[in-house]
Amino acid sequence: MNVSNLPLPTLSARLAGTLDIITDDALARTTGVRVAFTGTSGGVSEGPYASLNLATHVGDSFAAVEENRRRLLHALDASDVELVVPNQVHGTNVVSIESRSTTVVERARVDAERGADALVVGVPDVAALLCFADCVPVVIVSPTGRFAVVHAGWRGVVGGVAEQALEVMLEAEASLFGGRESAAASYNVYIGPHIHAECFETGFDVHARFVDLFGDQCAFDDRRIDLSKALSVGLARKGVDACRIVDAGVCTVCGGQGHYSYRASGGTCGRHGALAFRRV
Ligand SMILES: [Zn+2]
Repeated sequence: MNVSNLPLPTLSARLAGTLDIITDDALARTTGVRVAFTGTSGGVSEGPYASLNLATHVGDSFAAVEENRRRLLHALDASDVELVVPNQVHGTNVVSIESRSTTVVERARVDAERGADALVVGVPDVAALLCFADCVPVVIVSPTGRFAVVHAGWRGVVGGVAEQALEVMLEAEASLFGGRESAAASYNVYIGPHIHAECFETGFDVHARFVDLFGDQCAFDDRRIDLSKALSVGLARKGVDACRIVDAGVCTVCGGQGHYSYRASGGTCGRHGALAFRRV
């Protein structure tokens, strides 16, 4: 198989229908892979969940979440995809989907419901949606069109959930690239809105674990940690090229009302999403 190079990753904010998304249009044009980080507007949820809450586990009306998810897929012209939304548990379990058959997708849904913080999808028309309010959304895309959507809070970063998802992708396709390192070097990595270092104060023990694992460069100062930098260090160690890692540059805590923040809201809020799917 001849796999062509991906365009270098970029992330831009734009409207999709009436919804604010952050996406890479060049990636979608060249590979069919759509990556979208969502915001808070354009949905039907109310109160602390207003308005595009995509998560069912936060106390919002189930019908409102269903409508919000429907609007999101519709806005991206993807109403017909199979949507898989895992039950996120701040772990490192990865569920992968390598067939569009109903049986396989249903089995993946059951596995993901038992607890998963990353989905790897190797087939078209299956969408992975993970939900966030301060934790870091990471999407990894291969030139083959295979992708991973990852939920990385600080526990996930320390546990290596993004590296685990990368490993699952490499396992499936490294041979197409002549080895794991050249495969990893060809992947694009997209880091979505999350709690930035200036707002992420941690306990001394957590801070020390990060510095041990990822070096001084992930420390913003002696109390605060840069999760994006820690993730980038972890992925670069596995062969990802630093110039193929892009960060949306939006802090969920101090970046305005455009995203949900668990910390800023005091704990009751909706969840924005990281969504990816591939069209052929
Ligand atoms: Zn901030």
